[in-house]
Amino acid sequence: MNFHSMSVDQLRTTQEDLRKRYATLQAAGLKLDLTRGKPAPDQLDLSNEMLSLPGETYTSPDGVDCRNYGGVTGLLGLREIFGELLGTGTERTIALGNASLQAMHDITVHSLLGGNPDSDQPWSTQPIKFLCPAPGYDRHFGITERYGIEMITVPMNPDGPDVDACAALVAADPSIKGMWLVPTFSNPTGYTVSEEVARRLVAMPAAPDFRIYWDNAYAVHTLVDETPTPLPILDFAEEAGNPNRVYVFASTSKITFAGAGVAFFASSKTNIDWFTKNLGVSTIGPDKLNQLRHLMFLRDADGVRAHMARHRALIAPKFAKVLEILEDRLADSKIASWTHPEGGYFISLDVIDGAAARTIALAKDAGIALTAAGSTFPYKKDPRDENIRLAPTFPSIDELATAMDGVATCALLAATEVLLD
Ligand code: PLP
Repeated sequence: MNFHSMSVDQLRTTQEDLRKRYATLQAAGLKLDLTRGKPAPDQLDLSNEMLSLPGETYTSPDGVDCRNYGGVTGLLGLREIFGELLGTGTERTIALGNASLQAMHDITVHSLLGGNPDSDQPWSTQPIKFLCPAPGYDRHFGITERYGIEMITVPMNPDGPDVDACAALVAADPSIKGMWLVPTFSNPTGYTVSEEVARRLVAMPAAPDFRIYWDNAYAVHTLVDETPTPLPILDFAEEAGNPNRVYVFASTSKITFAGAGVAFFASSKTNIDWFTKNLGVSTIGPDKLNQLRHLMFLRDADGVRAHMARHRALIAPKFAKVLEILEDRLADSKIASWTHPEGGYFISLDVIDGAAARTIALAKDAGIALTAAGSTFPYKKDPRDENIRLAPTFPSIDELATAMDGVATCALLAATEVLLD
C-alpha cells in the first residue's frame, strides 16, 4: 500500500511489522557487501587465458619488442581496437598503464601545475571549479576534492547532465575549468548522454582551457543485446570549434582484469602531445607485455564485443534479480524509485527524502554493506539524503537476493520513521 496515503495508525502498525522483520534480518548474522562495482570471480575467470599470455611471444604484430623500454603511446593494435570502440580513431587514442583513474588524476595535477595547452596560467594560480553531474562517481569527486577544486553539482538527467544549467554556469564563470562526466551507462544511474546534449556540451561558450572529462568507462558494458554506438565526441568538439575541449578515458578494468587491465586516453593531437610530454617525464613507457597479452586475447573490436556478451550472460541475471526484488518489495509503497540500466555496473536507488543515510545505517547493522551515504554527490553531501548506489555484480545471485530483500526492509522501515517524524 502507498505509504503516503496511510493514516498515522496504519503507518505505526506497518512500522511494527517492519521492526519485527528487521529483527529477524539482524538475527540472521549476514555479512554481505554491495558497495563497490567489482567484477565477480566468475567474470574474472572469463579472461584466465590471459594468465598464460603472452607466453613465449614478446614482439607485437607491428614489430615492437615489448620487453624493452619505450613507446609511451602504447601498442598500435590496442589503439586500433579501442579507437574503434570509443569512436575516437587510432591516431587520437593512446594505451596506458592499468588505471584510467590515474590518467584523470595526473592530467588534473599537470593542469594545476602548468595549465593545459589553452591555459594562460597554471590552474593553481587561482581558485578553480569543476561541474559535477550528480549522482556521479565518488572517485571523480575524490580527485577534485583532494586538490581543493570547488565542485558545483549539476543534475544528471536520463539524457545526460542538465545542459542548460551547465551552459549558464560556464558562460558566466571562466574559473570553471572542468567537468566530470560518464557518458555511457553512467555510474551510478546507468544514464547515457544523448547526441543533442553531447553536441551542446562541446559547443557551449566556456573558458578556453575548460575541459570535459568524458570518462567512457562503460562504453561496451551492455546488459542488452546491442552495444551502443559511441558518440564521436572528438569530432563533435572539432566541428564545434573546440577541438581540445574533451578528454576521453576508458579501460579494460571491467573487460579483462580489474587490477591488471589497460587504460586509454583519447583527445585532440594538441592534448595528446601535451599529455604524453608530461607522461614521458614520469615513465619511459607503459607495461607493453600486458598490452600485448590483451591484444592477443581480445584480437579485435569484435573480440571485445563477444567477450562482453560473456560478461553480460553472467551479470544480466543479477541486475534482473535486483530489479525484481525492488519491484516486489518497494513498488506499492511509493517510497522509492530506481533506474533500469541497460548497461554499466550500478542501479541507482532513490528512497524517500531524508531516508538514505538511515537506510544505509540500518543495513549496516544487519550486516549488509552499502556504498556510504552521500557518496554519489560532491563532498559526500546528498542534498536530499535520498540516493543509494547498488552494485549488483560482485555477490552471488543468492547473496544478492538476500541482501536486496534486506535493503528493501531497511528502506521501508526508514521511510516509516521519516513519515512518522
Ligand atoms: N570510471 C568510472 C566511471 C568507474 O566507475 C570506474 C570504476 O568503478 C573507473 C573509472 C575506474 O577505472 P580504472 O580501473 O580504469 O581506473
